[in-house]
Amino acid sequence: MSDRPKLAVYWAASCGGCEVSILNMGEFFLELDRHFDFIICPCLLDTKKTDIESLPDGAIDLTLFNGAIRTGENEEMARLLRRKSSLLAAFGSCAIEGCIPGLSNLSNRDQHFQSIYLDNLTTDNPDGIIPGGSVSLPDGVITLPEFYERVLTLHQVVPVDFSIPGCPPEPRQIRQVLEAYLAGEPPAAGSLVGCGDLTVCDDCDRVKCDKKIPVFYRNHEIIPDRQICLLEQGLLCIGIATRNGCGAPCTQANMPCTGCYGPPPGVQDQGAKMVAALASVMDIGSTKGLSETEIADRVDAFLDAIPDYAGQFYKYGLAGSILGGRLRE
Ligand code: SF4
Repeated sequence: MSDRPKLAVYWAASCGGCEVSILNMGEFFLELDRHFDFIICPCLLDTKKTDIESLPDGAIDLTLFNGAIRTGENEEMARLLRRKSSLLAAFGSCAIEGCIPGLSNLSNRDQHFQSIYLDNLTTDNPDGIIPGGSVSLPDGVITLPEFYERVLTLHQVVPVDFSIPGCPPEPRQIRQVLEAYLAGEPPAAGSLVGCGDLTVCDDCDRVKCDKKIPVFYRNHEIIPDRQICLLEQGLLCIGIATRNGCGAPCTQANMPCTGCYGPPPGVQDQGAKMVAALASVMDIGSTKGLSETEIADRVDAFLDAIPDYAGQFYKYGLAGSILGGRLRE
């Protein structure tokens, strides 16, 4: 092996988009190969767990760990890579805050298995078998990893040195972080890098005027004006509660920001921030002479236009939010 820095990219509970973003760095990806020894990357290399276990502790210079912790295997690999890596980065929204896998924290393990293996209309499972535990086969015993009750973030399982947000992180941002590392400037401990210090609204050049919203629309219900703030047009744009750094590609494409870079500086809970922001802009008309019940009815009617609170406000951050999911008994 050469004396170049050793780079690992690992993939736990995630969709693979973070790897695609690495590939989307284009020609710089080829340069990466000149500057680093790729030591683990499941979508490129057939590295075995025993290969990693045989490395001295700290032998990997930098691990980009993407994906949330859904199973015992995810946690085992997170702990192994933590031990073997000098620097461990939470790479992308799943690792940092749970992202889409974290939305499954609205149900527990039994509810998931009931739905996936028993109730699903397209599942043919007459014996009602729920996968799990160990199975003896002619070639040996196969043990399925434990499926956790809840999705955890990487930070909730092992210490993390720094984080790169995004679903997925923008290729130019990943490149910037890797170039800084190669220049001898690794990110500061505990930092969030590859992003900005403001909100997506700050990067969005749409005209913002009067943020009073009388009614919400779902994305397919209107074709919004391309110049005016989407939130003011009644589309649930999360830009005000989202850290910048992506360059606002969604709003440029006439689609609302969904919040994938996570909460902006100083905000712990992105969903709570967005709810607070909406409370100050919702327009339920004049309440003069209305009873409390009538006012509450108007608020309910306004909120009814939002079809999926968790999916809108905690699409990326439920597992890492203050609640972490639905309250358990
Ligand atoms: Fe742009 Fe959305 Fe912010 Fe409006 S709410 S300024 S559309 S990012």
